[in-house]
Amino acid sequence: MTLVSKGIHHVTAIASDPQKNLDFYAGVLGLRFVKRTVNFDDPTTYHFYFGDGAGNPGSILTFFPWPASRRGRQGDGQVGVTSFAILPGSVGFWIERFIKHNVDFEHPKTRFDEERVIAFRDPDGLLVELVAHPGADAGATWSTLAIPAEHSIRGLYSVTLWQKSSDLTGKLLIESLGFEPVLEQASTFRYAAKGRGLGSVVDLRCVPGLWPGVLGAGTVHHVAFRASDDAEQLESRNNLVARGFNVSPLMNRDYFRSIYFREPGGVLFEIATDSPGFAIDEPIDKLGQSLKLPEWLEPRRFEIDALLPNIRLPMEIPGPNA
Ligand code: ZN
Repeated sequence: MTLVSKGIHHVTAIASDPQKNLDFYAGVLGLRFVKRTVNFDDPTTYHFYFGDGAGNPGSILTFFPWPASRRGRQGDGQVGVTSFAILPGSVGFWIERFIKHNVDFEHPKTRFDEERVIAFRDPDGLLVELVAHPGADAGATWSTLAIPAEHSIRGLYSVTLWQKSSDLTGKLLIESLGFEPVLEQASTFRYAAKGRGLGSVVDLRCVPGLWPGVLGAGTVHHVAFRASDDAEQLESRNNLVARGFNVSPLMNRDYFRSIYFREPGGVLFEIATDSPGFAIDEPIDKLGQSLKLPEWLEPRRFEIDALLPNIRLPMEIPGPNA
């Protein structure tokens, strides 16, 4: 059986201040705050999930906001850029919005078959892009008081990995993760999942001589790829193990089940199941509104809640999409 990729499931990055992170992603970018939970490995810190209106796989960017974290260094062996999809008719809207909110952005440019790419940095310096593409169809749009559904961010578009050389990672993407090579230009090699849905693009950018990346605020921690179900995940696991990768045991992340491994270029990869999703512990119209804990941490809720920094939801977050 040949593996066919369904693309990216989520990207997880490090932030410093939880409030600034929430204000930027749910407020300025208008993503839906789909889950407010804790880092299962360190429950005194938050784990925030942002996504589209339904929290669909392929739309999710998550953060570990570590208030005391030093800023990381973007470099070789990392996901250097995380890109979201918008429709071409929304470029002007976003430029105006970025100016209004003092976002540090670059003049839009054209790249491959993408009509416009707007590169910008989040409050911790994380490199993010909005990619205008006619194929950026709506999964489950989300609107806020300031961002109408037509201009909303559709979900993830791509990740760009910065690496010394792309050969082994390219082989992994094709042979173990089911991606197809689609484009090559200068030092960038593009791979895509067949359906070309949300989060279907992985760019490998060769950056020989670039300093190694250092994990910290403003850097990506890992990227997760989608498995439809447990059987598909197990199939990927067996494939990876057979090719000599050191794969973690299966971990239950409540909203999906995960396995992790380090790809040859140094980036931490995860394979996460589509199910059960974010509506498993709160109704879809209430996503992100209260602190959710895994069952085994519920007995410590009072203590955890007291240790977590206070946060308030941005003013512009609405109720369910009208
Ligand atoms: Zn993850």
